[in-house]
Amino acid sequence: MATQRCRACGSVWVGMDRAHCRCCCQTFDDAALFDAHRATGSCVAGSELDLVQTKNGIWLRLLEASTAR
Ligand SMILES: [Zn+2]
Ligand SMILES: [Zn+2]
Repeated sequence: MATQRCRACGSVWVGMDRAHCRCCCQTFDDAALFDAHRATGSCVAGSELDLVQTKNGIWLRLLEASTAR
C-alpha cells in the first residue's frame, strides 16, 4: 500500500484514491468527495456535507461508513 504524507500538516494516509486537501488539510475518501468540499471554490467542512470522519481523520459518506467493516 502506498503511504502518503502531507508536507503542510504532516498527516499520513494510505491509499492512492484518498484525496488530502492541501488547503484545509482534511482527507477525503475519494476524489468525488474532495470535489464536493471544493464545489463552491473554497473549502467546506466535511460535516457540512453530511460526511462522517473516521478515527484516522478521513471523511467518508455516511452510507459507506455504516456499511464498512
Ligand atoms: Zn479543503
Ligand atoms: Zn495536510
